[in-house]
Amino acid sequence: MLQKRSWAEPFRIKMVESVRMTSPEERLRAMEEAGYNTFLLRSRDVYIDLLTDSGTSAMSDRQWAAMMLGDEAYAGSESFYRMEEAVQRRYGYKHVIPTHQGRGAEHIISKLLIRPGDVVPGNMYFTTTRLHQELAGARFVDVIIGEAHDPASLHPFKGDVDLAKLEQVLVENPGKVPYVSVAATVNMAGGQPISMANMRAVRELTSRHGVRVILDATRIAENAFFIQEREAGYEGRPIAEIVLEMCNLTDGCTMSAKKDPLANIGGFLALNDRELTELAQNLLVIYEGLHTYGGMSGRDMEAVAVGIDESLQDDHIRARVGQVRYLGEKMLGWGIPLVQPIGGHGIFLDAKAFLPHVPQAQYPAQALAAALYLDSGIRSMERGVVSAGRDPETGLDRMPRLELVRLTIPRRVYTQAHMDVTAETALAVFEGREQIRGLRMTYEPKHLRFFQARFEPV
Ligand SMILES: *Cc1c(COP(=O)(O)O)cnc(C)c1O
Repeated sequence: MLQKRSWAEPFRIKMVESVRMTSPEERLRAMEEAGYNTFLLRSRDVYIDLLTDSGTSAMSDRQWAAMMLGDEAYAGSESFYRMEEAVQRRYGYKHVIPTHQGRGAEHIISKLLIRPGDVVPGNMYFTTTRLHQELAGARFVDVIIGEAHDPASLHPFKGDVDLAKLEQVLVENPGKVPYVSVAATVNMAGGQPISMANMRAVRELTSRHGVRVILDATRIAENAFFIQEREAGYEGRPIAEIVLEMCNLTDGCTMSAKKDPLANIGGFLALNDRELTELAQNLLVIYEGLHTYGGMSGRDMEAVAVGIDESLQDDHIRARVGQVRYLGEKMLGWGIPLVQPIGGHGIFLDAKAFLPHVPQAQYPAQALAAALYLDSGIRSMERGVVSAGRDPETGLDRMPRLELVRLTIPRRVYTQAHMDVTAETALAVFEGREQIRGLRMTYEPKHLRFFQARFEPV
């Protein structure tokens, strides 16, 4: 008798896209041309692309069909109203402001609410979110629990806010905290969830201080899956219900439709406050577009509207997180160091433990990402000292405790066999890790340097 029955993806494949295997010589040439930065590789030189799960999802037949119904009217597009209805019904916010992608929404809300000298606390930073807060004049303060910075901690909700830290920030900066920035799940901590109990406590605390909570809802379906699995009282509750309950504890959200909502482009800002919405719509016409398209075409908004519904189906999210977990458990079985518990959207290799002989000043995670590509054409990305950038006050490199390589799994794109090949690549590189050298940066862009920086081996 089988102990445990297998299950498979809740879809079958209707259309395929070829990928190309390259030779070791071709990969070395491509890596050198890319300045040892996986963001600068051409996708034709990549075999399995785990750079990001952003905009790389496979759309469903229903999404493609909906795109044909796109209403490309400049003003008052029917497609906008369909997307608006899906956002209101699924996330519960009253007002929906479309943006070209998540950072468009972050830009608008930061400009709207932040005054120079303000302080924005959050459960670990996200690159674009924090940059928009800083550009608007705020200082970001990390109030995530300490366990989030420890790749070996098995805390089930490493995305939780440290309530004492948050309270201290609120007490020390009266009138200077425009909102608390809460992400579900926390991308930079390895896709780790925040619990409903913690979110409820954040709501109570901020209400007492009269401070708003703005949710980064980009990965909230994945967060809801972990709540369903781990939090008392949520077992068997539908993902859609959990998502709605969490959104109801906040005043608004920013969303990248390139993640959870299964679209290739798009995003939105959602708010409950009518006056704030009008101000946001006014900024929108400057930076994004009219308030009924905000940088998206009608067909994009159709794809998002359908994608939102699909993203909240229990079978979908179980398969999505299940595939990530399958890959991670395989690697763990071979002793490969990675962030635990395994998160919602990818595997985060612990580059400090993987390459203890490479000092953090020589970008171990960047070097490891390059090594994975050179081994078999798998593309990953750095989440460590390069991504953390420089401190705006001191100008020095931020030295994060987490020095990670992210293998991000696009939704509905790769099969279990691709996951096997990926795990075996990590093992081959792990076995040859002593040969891997650090890197030195030869070009450093001013903002979000990880996207365009160039390196060479030391
Ligand atoms: C991707 C992402 C964003 C930014 O969204 P874009 O669509 O890439 O601009 C914000 N927050 C989180 C958690 C993300 O993963």
